[in-house]
Amino acid sequence: MSSIRQIIIFLGAPGSGKGTLSRMCVDKLDWKQLSTGDLCRQHVQAGTEIGKEIDFTLKSGTLVRDSVIIDMVAQWLATQVQDADSVILDGFPRTVVQARSFIAMMDGSFENVTLKVYQLIVPDSEIVKRLSSRVVCSNKECQAIYSERLLGSSEWHTKKCDVCGHSLVKRNDDTVEKIHARLVNYHHHIEQLLEYYRNIGCQVIDINADVPTEEIFQEILYYERITQ
Ligand code: ADP
Ligand code: ZN
Repeated sequence: MSSIRQIIIFLGAPGSGKGTLSRMCVDKLDWKQLSTGDLCRQHVQAGTEIGKEIDFTLKSGTLVRDSVIIDMVAQWLATQVQDADSVILDGFPRTVVQARSFIAMMDGSFENVTLKVYQLIVPDSEIVKRLSSRVVCSNKECQAIYSERLLGSSEWHTKKCDVCGHSLVKRNDDTVEKIHARLVNYHHHIEQLLEYYRNIGCQVIDINADVPTEEIFQEILYYERITQ
């Protein structure tokens, strides 16, 4: 029997802070995080069959096929989360097809689990700035997130990851062109996703995420207290 009480979806554009916020929730609240982006990059790095199939898609900044993502999520949920109180979905579901499959999965395996969506809202102009200055840990088991703006535009090359000591790199989809493609993709799907959540009666909480992550975290804590 799984002990999961709630599943929390962090919905937001690329660079809205889902990853950094998720890590904070994992460290401070002992939640579990499923990042489909991290999982995809792990597959590519490990050279699995899935990794070979999705390598080009990831580089181009477009979405991986729904069925591939849904299988990955199902496998992760079945093997990784037995003892978690709260599970964060970071970067999933990204399409209504994924959301529908996920709800069907929940009906089968997580009957009494609450589903809640936090929507992280950041203006596109800020997203472009954040992503074009983002650097990440090169260790695919870690993938901690840093900012060139904070580390210094030449200093980050020599800096090591605080978590695991590996070097830092730029993601190959964080170029201006691909950031634009990812944002277009995001806006294309978001309205349909929000409508789907409204239709199934799932709570969607809007959060201003154009503030430091610590403030976003405090706001999440506040909503967690009042929605217990
Ligand atoms: P970002 O949110 O910054 O685009 P992610 O790390 O969440 O970055 O995702 C990186 C890439 O992984 C996406 O551009 C896409 O190719 C793939 N991906 C991740 N999650 C999904 C998903 N739920 N559906 C389809 N593709 C996904
Ligand atoms: Zn690291």
